[in-house]
Order: sequence, then structure tokens, then C-alpha cells
Amino acid sequence: MKSTQRIGLILTLVFVLPAVFFSVYEISSLNRDERMIQDVYRKQLDAILFSVNQYSDDVLNSWIAKVESGWIEKVPGHTPKKIKNLLTFNSSLVAVFISDPPYGAANGAVFSLTDSSKEHISAINETLSSGAENIRQLVEYKKDGFQKLQSLPYRDSANNDLRCLAFVVGDQPSQFSIAGLLVDPNIFIQEVVGPRLQIIAKDQFILSVFKKGSPASIYSTLARNGDTLKAEAHTKDLWLLPDFTIGIRANGTSIQSLVDKRTTTNLILLLSLDAVLIVAVILVFRNVKHEVQLAQNKADFVSNVSHEIRTPLALISMFAETLEMGRVGSEEKKQEYYSIITKETHRLSGIVNKILSFSQIDANKKNLVFRIVDINAEVNGILKTYDFHLRSKGFGYTFIPGGEVSVQADDEAFAEAVINLIDNAMKYSPDKKFIEITSGIENEYGYVAVKDHGIGISKMDQKHIFDKFFRVSSGDLAKSLGTGLGLSLVKQLTEAQHGHVTVSSAPGKGSVFTLYFLLKKTES
Ligand code: ADP
Repeated sequence: MKSTQRIGLILTLVFVLPAVFFSVYEISSLNRDERMIQDVYRKQLDAILFSVNQYSDDVLNSWIAKVESGWIEKVPGHTPKKIKNLLTFNSSLVAVFISDPPYGAANGAVFSLTDSSKEHISAINETLSSGAENIRQLVEYKKDGFQKLQSLPYRDSANNDLRCLAFVVGDQPSQFSIAGLLVDPNIFIQEVVGPRLQIIAKDQFILSVFKKGSPASIYSTLARNGDTLKAEAHTKDLWLLPDFTIGIRANGTSIQSLVDKRTTTNLILLLSLDAVLIVAVILVFRNVKHEVQLAQNKADFVSNVSHEIRTPLALISMFAETLEMGRVGSEEKKQEYYSIITKETHRLSGIVNKILSFSQIDANKKNLVFRIVDINAEVNGILKTYDFHLRSKGFGYTFIPGGEVSVQADDEAFAEAVINLIDNAMKYSPDKKFIEITSGIENEYGYVAVKDHGIGISKMDQKHIFDKFFRVSSGDLAKSLGTGLGLSLVKQLTEAQHGHVTVSSAPGKGSVFTLYFLLKKTES
């Protein structure tokens, strides 16, 4: 495994995996917490609705007690006083009836504040006979000592809103009578249940009552627009008035929405944390990869430079020794040896200068003096100096200037960059030895381009060739020596002159390196 892959794996194992596990665990526990809070909240709402039902039951039971005690004090032909009071003070109570024993028929007494009491008789009879089974059960309960209340739909087409709440009165089974309260549920909710809802609701909840089948509330502790059953957090039917549903929701921010908000915030935080971590790991990995690559390139650099230096040194020392020993006979040979020594010394100083120049620019210590540089004149000068060198290596060349191109640059740094490009063009063109140099203007830049027909550079390597110490290490290239500093130096020199360098190349087809410099400022 390559060291960068190993580092990537370690970073993933140490940072990303634990973060992902932690996130998965946290997200699942967030859901659990949310469910638990929801459960507690629902139970609380349940308890509140239970207490409303309990209260309605209590009220009706107190009415039953009054009917029972009123019935005991009855005087034939008169409405007992207690029942009359009950009817007077509770407008939701439309009528009270008590059948004669044996139970089952309502031909006994019907008390009401209006004269309509007799009109109810047939409807009461029908209601009781359709609820015969329920009545039988009520009697059984009463025999066992329980007073129960049975809610029956009232069978009267004229009063089909009413509800008949039936119960059994009497001490002995033989004296049992079926009694009932005819209640108007709408009024009962407004007058009895409503005030209780107000007390329970306070500022914390909104309690509303809905009639089944109709979406709008018939009573609410807080009038709101668009009250709907669906909007309630929790609902329950009223026990004794099963056509009605009571709904509850929090006033203002509910626990539910607080929980939802908290869950969303936590989720966003968690995911952002993961995203930041992943980005950080990627950045660290890229940096480490870069550093590892640099360390590798540096190691290669040392061995490349040693190799580059060793060859001229060996040649110099060999020919110098030969000359020193006086073994060379002819003057001609002597001259040849001298010129080899000079050439190799130049090569050596070239390498040393490149390294020095690189270290200076790399440490930002190179002092550049900006002047107006005429690119064409400068390139012509370089080619004049290099003409012999190029021709002796078998290279042909052309220079096609593109009009007058004057840029702001340091002439020495400019020349150094161009020479490096020509050097490379020669070094990496083993077969087709031809170099084309052009110049011109593009946007606000003046440029010089060096084109060769050599081995070219793959897209992958093009990303790295300007890195310090980088050399393409595959194929025959390893044989052609170099330091890996040339293009890095070119890039740094050009950028220090506020310019830039580009490459366009394809393996086997040659390369074009173009240096761009800012055009001379025109006086306005
Ligand atoms: P070197 O001392 O190896 O030439 P450089 O920094 O000058 O170092 O170049 C980096 C690498 O870019 C070289 O190793 C070579 O593979 C590639 N390269 C540079 N110039 C050319 C060119 N003109 N044609 C093909 N490859 C090139």
C-alpha cells in the first residue's frame, strides 16, 4: 500500500468513521427521545380530556341526584320543586321524564318548563324501546347497587339534536322506574362544559369542541380562524355526547413543535459537523499527500543533482589529470581537452546557478528590477547566444515575432525563464529537433511561446511539472538527467513579474510553453 493511501485510510478510520457512527447513533436516539416526549405529551393531553369528561359526568350525576330526591317528594299533578329548579337553572335540560313501574314505558310523568311535555311521550317511548338492551343493562347495574347513566339518541324528528340520558330510579327492583334527562347538547357544551374548559385551558392550552361531521368548532376557549379538527394535537369523544369531539392543543409554541425544532437543530448541527469534518479530513489528506510527494521529490532531487554533478566532475578531473601529466602530444588534442573542461565547467556552474537562483526566488530573496522589456529584442539576443549551442546539438529553430511587444519585466529573470524553456525543449526532443518560438499580444499580456516536437507530457503529469523537484519518472526520461527545478523556477520567476505560464502538450506530439507578462503601461 502506498504511504498516501495508508494515510487516507488512517484519517478515515480515526476521524470519519467515529463521526459517522456517532451521527447515526445520535440521530436514532433523537428519534427515540422525540417519541418519548411525544408519548408523555399525549398522555398529559389525554389526562386533561379525561378530566373534562369526568366533570360532565359529575354534573349529570348531580342532576340525577336532584331528580331522584325530587321524585321522592312528588305530589301528583305537580312538577316536584327540585326538578322544577333543575329545569329552571339549566337551560340545556329540555325535559325530565320518569316512567311508571314496571320500567320500559314512559307513560308516567314528563316534566318540562314548556307545555310541550306531552309531545315528548311517543318519542321517549320509541327511544326507550330502541335502547331496550341498554335499559336492561342499566337495571342490572342498579340491582347490583350502581347508578349508571346511559346516553341514547333521542328518536324525535322535530328534536333530533337532543340526547336522552337514561337512568334507573327507585330503591327496590319492583319499584324501579326508568327516568331520563332530555339534554340539548349544544347548550350543554356552551353552558356547562365551556366554563370548565376555560378554567382548564388557562393560557397554556386551547380546548375546542367539534360536532362530528362538521369541520368548524362549535365552542373554543380561544376564537381562532380556521379551527379544524385536524389541527388539534389530540382529540377525544365526549363520553355522554358521543356525537361531539373535544380537541386540545397548546397555546403558542407546543412541546411538539419545540421537540421538532430541537430535533431539526440537532440534526442540522450534527450533519454540518460531519460535513466540516469530512472537508477537514479531505484538506488534511491533500496537504499530507502534497508533503509526502514533496519529500519524495526532494529525495529524488538529491540523487539527481549528485548524478548531474558527478558526470562533468569526472570528465573535468580526467582531462585535467591527463593534461597535468603531460601525456597529450598534439596541441590540437590539448585544445580539445581544454574546451571539454570549459564546457563541463559551464555545465557545472549552470547547475549550481539554477540551484542558487531557485533557492533565492523560493526564499523570496531575489531582487527584481522592473523595466520595459522588448520581448522580441530580448529573444533575439538569447537566440544569438544560444545559436551555436542549438546548432551543435543538431537543433533547428525559428522565431516569429508578433509585432512590437513591450512588457514590464526584469530582463534577467525574463531571459532565465526563456532559457530554461529552450533547455527543456532540447532535452526532451530526442528525435525531431526543431524549436519554434513566437511572440505576441493577448488581452493585457505580451507573451513568448516555446514550442517543441519532442516527447510531450501526459495530462496527469502536466498538473505537477511546475512543482518543486518534480520530474516525470517513467520511461526513458529517467535517463535524461535533470534537477526537477527548471519549470518550478520558470513559474516562480514569471509570477514574481506578475505574469503566468501555461503549458499545452500531448505525449508524442510535443509541447508549447507560453510565458505571459503584463504589457507596458500606455501613458494616458
Ligand atoms: P527537469 O530538471 O527534470 O527538466 P523541470 O522542472 O524543468 O525539471 O521539468 C519537470 C519535468 O517536466 C521534467 O522532468 C519533464 O518530464 C517535463 N518536461 C519539462 N519540459 C518538457 C518538454 N519541453 N517536453 C517534455 N517534457 C518536459
